[in-house]
Amino acid sequence: MAVKKQFAVIGLGRFGGSICKELYKMGHQVLAIDNRDHKVNEFATFATHAVIANSTDEKALKSLGIRNFEYVIVAIGDDIQTSILTTLLLKEMNVKNVWVKAQNAYHHKVLEKIGADRIIHPEHDMGIRIAQHLNSEKIVDYIELSEEYSIVELLATRKIHNKSLVDLNVRAKYGCTILAIKRAERINVSPLPDEIIHEGDMLVVIGHKNDLKRFEDEGM
Ligand code: ADP
Repeated sequence: MAVKKQFAVIGLGRFGGSICKELYKMGHQVLAIDNRDHKVNEFATFATHAVIANSTDEKALKSLGIRNFEYVIVAIGDDIQTSILTTLLLKEMNVKNVWVKAQNAYHHKVLEKIGADRIIHPEHDMGIRIAQHLNSEKIVDYIELSEEYSIVELLATRKIHNKSLVDLNVRAKYGCTILAIKRAERINVSPLPDEIIHEGDMLVVIGHKNDLKRFEDEGM
């Protein structure tokens, strides 16, 4: 497991709530914060501590020792003003990593200006991922690294069954690199050239989007 970190999640709606539960399940220390008591009660067993606090109250944030947290996630949905004020306070307190859910492009712009370290558009990002799945049945998952580069998880087809990485020669032919091969529960990171691929294996491949597309369409 990765090194244990300290997280605080502000706003326990669908987005913040999922982040909180998942991090806690992974064994991290998570402080869950919401200004509604029923939300805090709901998360009592899904966080290290769950507290009622208003995140625009600077004193309240200080008394929670929020500046000692490595990551603070601001997951306040509809109330843009509250989200912005909360982010501003956290950055003023020198919290190192403030990740904020943005509602729209204007919200994004302001968050950028006040120093949010990462701005997330969950619906937009998820929409892109789902479109990638729908576009190709071979693509299982998709991570955009930049405008040009991404990492995809491709399902090995019958066409490449029993072929080795040397046979496929993906790097020379398509300019992509196979980072890992997943088979059932096993994951083989940095596979050797003589590694044999089976139909149904999951290939984790990095490359330029055009090259990945070519490999997906022609190479497998
Ligand atoms: P989602 O779309 O992710 O479900 P919501 O807008 O429903 O987002 O959830 C946001 C959460 O943030 C709510 O549970 C709300 O009570 C909480 N919240 C809103 N304002 C504050 C605040 N000032 N301090 C703490 N929590 C807040």
